[in-house]
Amino acid sequence: MIEISPDSDFSIHNIPFGIYSIDGGQKHVAIAYGDYILDCYLLSKLGLFDSIDIDGEVFAKPFLNDFIGLGKSVTNRVRSEIQDFLMDDKHVIWKSQNQFLFPRNNVILHLPIQIGDYTDFYSSESHARNVGMMFRDPNNALLPNWKHLPVAYHGRASSIFVSGTNFKRPHGQIKGPDDELPRFAATQKLDFELEMAAVIGKKSDWQVPISTEEAMDHVFGYVLFNDWSARDIQQWETMPLGPFLGKNFFSSISPWVVTSEALEPFKIKSKSQDPTPLPYLQEKEGFQFDIDLNVHFQTKEGQSKLICRSNFSNLYWTVAQQIAHHTVNGCNLNVGDLLASGTISGDKEGSFGSLLEITWSGKNPILFEDGITRTFVEDGDTIIFEGFGKKADKRIGFGNLINTVLQ
Ligand code: MN
Repeated sequence: MIEISPDSDFSIHNIPFGIYSIDGGQKHVAIAYGDYILDCYLLSKLGLFDSIDIDGEVFAKPFLNDFIGLGKSVTNRVRSEIQDFLMDDKHVIWKSQNQFLFPRNNVILHLPIQIGDYTDFYSSESHARNVGMMFRDPNNALLPNWKHLPVAYHGRASSIFVSGTNFKRPHGQIKGPDDELPRFAATQKLDFELEMAAVIGKKSDWQVPISTEEAMDHVFGYVLFNDWSARDIQQWETMPLGPFLGKNFFSSISPWVVTSEALEPFKIKSKSQDPTPLPYLQEKEGFQFDIDLNVHFQTKEGQSKLICRSNFSNLYWTVAQQIAHHTVNGCNLNVGDLLASGTISGDKEGSFGSLLEITWSGKNPILFEDGITRTFVEDGDTIIFEGFGKKADKRIGFGNLINTVLQ
């Protein structure tokens, strides 16, 4: 029996899946529980999943894709088998606990998903308004299509890495409003975007749209997502075809995939939509997740500040609507695809999910102690996301998503 703290993200109600290795050994599927990880491959060797029709080799893989691809009827049984085991301190498998149980601090966590395609939506109304006001026209901040369809762009999967990955500030073409010509330079406006991403767990067929009712069957779970952005590169390149090099230099996800089932207790009714969307986007009971999202900024000088408190539910479009829209033209989804939400900004100050909005494009610097200020992220700075739901005695979290810009 393992004692875990009541404020742990990885309670008995969570049981998220990830990929770990230890001492340069093989990568295996694991679950997080308190300050520990449990190796699912070794648990299967010990017979924990004998009552389930599953080949244990699926846990000896470097990514979760094959496991997730077995479908919810299998993955949910694995999860509940682990929960039953964790609550049964007389279970015979505990006798072998030094074989499958490791302190989380002693293992390396890897990118959990082999990401096939990655799409980034733009589904927070506050974020879309704020960006529209700054980048285009304060009087027409939302473009006419925004409330009729979940706007998105196709991103790049190759440069998505796991939490803990540090990165170099990107270079690119930059042209300020008063510059006659563009120049090639390191971005001066390095920013984060606070997002969540849905991990697709069930493929869909080409030319067969997914309805809003079916959509959630296709989501295995969720991760925290940081869509790192270079605002000056983005601003010069975006028109007319959309985001490109200002976005695809680096994105990061949290290492543990929290299942849709674990997030059930945090479902809340989605906001009403006006105008009513077209029938293929309508839902009988649309919902969002009441998951608190925080961003901490740590300067290279050592100051730390909570700079954003938002919530996963601060979205106009639901994940089901995003999926229905994504596939309505026949575009197919595959296991391991990642659909990110777009920056999740609330409508109040203090709930904005990017520095572009928090500092209003650099006009209002963030003040730290000792006279340190920031408008965008500087070399040596660290950005940390955290996300968790709390209801009565149930707490379910995602762990931290942390990246440092190399000096
Ligand atoms: Mn984004």
